Amino acid sequence: MNTQLLTTRPEVRRSSRGAANPFRGQHRRRLLRADLLAVLFWASLAGAISLWLADGGAAGFSTPAGSFTALGIVAGLAGMDLVLLMLLLAARIPVIDRTVGHDRALEFHRKLGKPALYLLLAHGVLIAIGYGMAEGLDPVSEGVALWVLVPDMWLAYISMLLFIAVVVTSLVAVRRRFPYEFWYAIHLLTYAAVLTSLPHQFSVGSLFAEGTWQRWYWLALCIATGAALVYYRIAQPLIATFRHQLTVKRVVGVAPGVVSIEMSGLRLDQLTGSGGRFFIWRFLAPGLWWHPHPFSLSAEPVRFDAAGQGTLRITVRNLGRGSARLAALKPGTKVAIEGPYGLFSTAARSRNHVVMVGAGIGITPIRALLESTPFQPGNATVILRGHSESELYLGEEILELCRQRGATLFHLTGPRPAGVRTWLPEHSARAGHRLSSFDPRLAEADVYVCGPGAWARNVLEDARAAGVRDDQLHYERFDW
Ligand SMILES: Cc1cc2nc3c(=O)[nH]c(=O)nc-3n(C[C@H](O)[C@H](O)[C@H](O)COP(=O)(O)OP(=O)(O)OC[C@H]3O[C@@H](n4cnc5c(N)ncnc54)[C@H](O)[C@@H]3O)c2cc1C
Repeated sequence: MNTQLLTTRPEVRRSSRGAANPFRGQHRRRLLRADLLAVLFWASLAGAISLWLADGGAAGFSTPAGSFTALGIVAGLAGMDLVLLMLLLAARIPVIDRTVGHDRALEFHRKLGKPALYLLLAHGVLIAIGYGMAEGLDPVSEGVALWVLVPDMWLAYISMLLFIAVVVTSLVAVRRRFPYEFWYAIHLLTYAAVLTSLPHQFSVGSLFAEGTWQRWYWLALCIATGAALVYYRIAQPLIATFRHQLTVKRVVGVAPGVVSIEMSGLRLDQLTGSGGRFFIWRFLAPGLWWHPHPFSLSAEPVRFDAAGQGTLRITVRNLGRGSARLAALKPGTKVAIEGPYGLFSTAARSRNHVVMVGAGIGITPIRALLESTPFQPGNATVILRGHSESELYLGEEILELCRQRGATLFHLTGPRPAGVRTWLPEHSARAGHRLSSFDPRLAEADVYVCGPGAWARNVLEDARAAGVRDDQLHYERFDW
């Protein structure tokens, strides 16, 4: 068995189970914020439908034609409200990021895509049926009449086509067939879809007619969503880039195909939260400047002077065209940033005890987290998983940190067993090891997991089987 306990446990003051938990408060506040966000989500949907109820819309149910039209209006209001919520989830608003994390926000954003599209399609079909019944036309003829005769309606049809293109290209099976840039470019059409859908919302029907409070509510919702996107997706990154003046200092080889990139900058103490968070980086060199790369910090920022001048470090594995070229970055290259994002940090802690599990390049944010997250000696376990020892990136640094901080370290190397779903190497799996074999106090720990998707899912499953609750599990995804 090459499962090794590498650190000797130091002279530990093992904190007792009952020791005060300094993370309890932040954890409770985070759960409360999550509940509030869920309430706001449902309130926003209820609010959209109340606009119509307050306008006497339910009276439409008195006739069959009116019923179809009424259902069509409700579907349209709910669908558009979902689209605005999706945009807010993708706007990288700090309170959402700090509460559920960037990846969970995007996961929810993705889940809303299909319901929003179905509601918008239902809106079009039901309105065509309702209006058609009232005018004695079949739905197709009514659809054509609406396109030709009603101002702004042709824009709404274009908007619908754009929404369909965005949702279809975002389906996992379709998305995987295209390069990231293609998917991203199509995804930007969402903004065009929303903009082209707006005119008919305000010019057709009486709900949002001039002078109504409903019109102001809906306008405020659209403007607030647009402002959040412009501020957090465009203005904030520009401000951060100019403010912190990051420049590549040096690129150091870590292992074949893996480099650490060190950058110097200004006021770094104001830039980063606690270790383990990620930024979206753009290296402003020919051919690279338009590639946005999410990379986690692999070390806590080092601060040199009182002005906050210091260095940041990321560790990058050559996983594609863009990341391969980063190994050749020249010192002095300017760097544009967005972030920090994510909850793979002390901000997610809820317990005294902590277990960190990393595989492959996913080990590097574990290194940053280990450096900074508070724990008493004996209260942390680090598990590194790689095919071979040379794939336990930054392994020496992690060993030294474990020694200094009193964490227990395991190296798990070797191939997976064939045909068995496990995150362990063959020899450990055969010996019947589980995640709890490496830390008997697993169930009372925060568990941080970072590594390839399928591997990480197996670790999370193992942790849940050992009694770890979902709010104790913190997982950084490296895929899109
Ligand atoms: C939160 C997070 C943290 C990450 N941290 C690290 C890390 O510390 N070290 C590391 O080596 N890798 C990390 N990754 C993975 C890394 O971002 C991708 O492997 C890398 O961007 C691939 O770029 P490429 O141009 O070589 O690949 P290609 O497949 O050629 O990608 C082309 C384009 O897609 C973009 N792209 C590719 N993958 C992603 C992605 N996951 N999210 C957004 N855009 C993407 C690229 O930036 C590029 O613009 C992280 C990913 C995420 C989501």
